[in-house]
Amino acid sequence: MTEEERLITPSFKGEEDEAESSLRPHALAEYFGQQKIKDSLSIYMQAALSRGEPLDHILLYGPPGLGKTTLAGIIASEMGHNIRITSGPAIERPGDLASILTNLASGDVLFIDEIHRLSHSVEEVLYPAMEDFALDIMIGKGPSARSIRLDLPKFTLIGATTRAGMLTSPLRDRFGISFRLEMYSPEELAVIVRRSAGILKIACDQDGALEIASRSRGTPRVANRLIRRVRDYAQVKATGKIDEKVAREALRLMEIDELGLDRTDRDILGAMIHKFNGGPVGLDTLAAITGEDAATIEDVYEPYLLQLGFLMRTPRGRVCTPQAYEHLGLIAPRDEDGEAEQTRIEL
Ligand code: ADP
Repeated sequence: MTEEERLITPSFKGEEDEAESSLRPHALAEYFGQQKIKDSLSIYMQAALSRGEPLDHILLYGPPGLGKTTLAGIIASEMGHNIRITSGPAIERPGDLASILTNLASGDVLFIDEIHRLSHSVEEVLYPAMEDFALDIMIGKGPSARSIRLDLPKFTLIGATTRAGMLTSPLRDRFGISFRLEMYSPEELAVIVRRSAGILKIACDQDGALEIASRSRGTPRVANRLIRRVRDYAQVKATGKIDEKVAREALRLMEIDELGLDRTDRDILGAMIHKFNGGPVGLDTLAAITGEDAATIEDVYEPYLLQLGFLMRTPRGRVCTPQAYEHLGLIAPRDEDGEAEQTRIEL
């Protein structure tokens, strides 16, 4: 791998790389949902285009698989420029970032995924680059060292993160635009599922699409993964078409329940309930007993469990709600007033 390849990914990455990129929309019209973001973006893009300027720097945040990378690509193509893709952990040294920045062309979009993982010394290089389109380079060492300023082409930085809270405030303040991506409704995801079915050349009716969509945890990446597996099932075990019944059977085989919870979700909730009486449980303890990585629990599993109201975050740790017990067919412990205990824990 060359130095250039280590820093910049030539194409979009993703969990399932090639399969994922074939389903990735390339125009705003094919990017479904996130209506508020699209409305604002269209205005900002039109204004920047009419002034002949690059778009302001944009921060996109939200759980994985909601379309941050996809949106960055669409912004670049709608603005008529190229996108260069890298990530926080790939930029190890200030020199790495300097080499990326000096190779940008005017108007380019630089996409930095997991931007909260940039080191402090790299961030320091990014500040003048974002603010003044300039790179400060130190020449020499010791008392004779001096700094020179290089002009950079005007570019748009798009930063993506699953953890906006972990961004330092000087970095956060340098983004002129900031969007939080929301989980998608089943109806929005059904549109995405039907579009993907078309690309994958498999017939899928509206009820089949809705069945997959409602079990996709509000996440397009999950919906696209499920449709591929349901397609396999439809072609091998059924008539080659996806309808509600076929979708339901295929998802049952994958142990995905009607709310979209999989084995790991149920293991997490089950461990909390059976081993800790519903909590509170610290994240690291939860990771140790379920054998999952703490960051994966926090980024991938927890957002959806929180959204469903199955988990609560309290100062003492995570707590299961009575709804989680109910979903697993269990009875939540009650105190003497007959109130479910967990609902009384103060946030
Ligand atoms: P993130 O960068 O937030 O982790 P991605 O942009 O990689 O998520 O999106 C994951 C996949 O989901 C993409 O391959 C794309 O096909 C699909 N996707 C995401 N958002 C949308 C959307 N709004 N409309 C259609 N497909 C989408």
